[in-house]
Amino acid sequence: MGTAVEQLAEVQHPLSNIQSFDTLALHAGAVADPTTGALLTPIYQTTTYRQEAVGKDKGFTYSRSANPTVSALERRLAALEGAEYCTCYATGLAATTVLCLALLRNGDHVVVSQAVYGGTVRLFNQVLAPFGVTAEFVDTADEAALRDALNAKPARFVFIETPANPTLKLTDIELAASIAHEANALLVVDNTLLTPALQRPFELQADVVLHSTTKFIEGHNATVGGALITSDAELHESFSFTRNAIGAIQSPFPAWLTLQGVKTIGLRMAQHSENALQIARFLETHPRVTRLLYPGLQSFPQFELARKQQTSGGALIAFEIEGGVEAGIRLMNSVELCALAENLGSAETLITHPASMTHADVPAAQREAAGISDGLVRLSVGLENPIDVIRDLSQALAQSKGAK
Ligand code: PLP
Repeated sequence: MGTAVEQLAEVQHPLSNIQSFDTLALHAGAVADPTTGALLTPIYQTTTYRQEAVGKDKGFTYSRSANPTVSALERRLAALEGAEYCTCYATGLAATTVLCLALLRNGDHVVVSQAVYGGTVRLFNQVLAPFGVTAEFVDTADEAALRDALNAKPARFVFIETPANPTLKLTDIELAASIAHEANALLVVDNTLLTPALQRPFELQADVVLHSTTKFIEGHNATVGGALITSDAELHESFSFTRNAIGAIQSPFPAWLTLQGVKTIGLRMAQHSENALQIARFLETHPRVTRLLYPGLQSFPQFELARKQQTSGGALIAFEIEGGVEAGIRLMNSVELCALAENLGSAETLITHPASMTHADVPAAQREAAGISDGLVRLSVGLENPIDVIRDLSQALAQSKGAK
């Protein structure tokens, strides 16, 4: 008999032959309650499971190893990314931590995109470095820089985030996979900003996909969570083992909320992108906006790459305004409908100052090298009518001029 996790992988859902993304988002991995027929997978709020006899269980023994609600979410997220396996975690950073603890040993080295979520930088620099793991932050959009870094020092994996938070810089996933594989390294893609609705890393030869499900996957600002997805059985086994060993699994209630949120991922991501495009067009022509980055606009420096590997521009916009840092801060303090907040990826539009919020723990020189200026404003466009968001930004931009 295999481990609980191996047995779970054998659970066959009656709809497992359905391929369409929107249908999978609703049905993949769901199991109607066997006693009542309740359509939604229940919240199995239990720590432990009665065993039939010594050594004989139904695939679940203790909710630190596996839980039926969490397993249902894992089957759905694996199906949506087009992969075999998924493990879910208490947060996105717990997923990154398990990735590192499972794959890295003292003396190992990794290559990480120069622009990534600030918490990822902090994990490598401040938590893993004292354990003898080195991370080099490289502009992974630059083919030669990536090749040079891997030639100079062998890496266990290349970790990319594309688009990168908050600069939206893209890395060519297929190219990064081939360079990493030539150098005997794995390619890990943080697909949080686009989700499988808009970007399919496994079709571009990625080995592992990571998510902060806190963002668009759950989508309603209601939970924190993370996921590691792969089709490699050995990698999956080592993630499951490490998750159990350190106790990083997601709890059943947030997993259940995520199962509900992810049902509308296709609809939401299409609408987020459409709204963001309208708002980006407004900002692009606004006289107070001095720099605007949105992958769905032709003015975006990597527009062709965005067209190649994304199905639309996504929800995130980054911009700078005339008057620098002070004006940017006045703008963020003047919004009324948009919420000044740390998160991204929710139904509500959020506005963030990366230098003092999400990326505050990234050393200033590293921020500058990654293109995260102190005046950069990040907008995570939600699902409101974009006209209302434009009206709000318009009044905030007017106020950002400050007193004369
Ligand atoms: N990856 C990206 C791209 C993120 O933006 C974040 C959080 O902002 C994380 C990972 C970490 O996820 P969590 O906040 O759920 O730990």
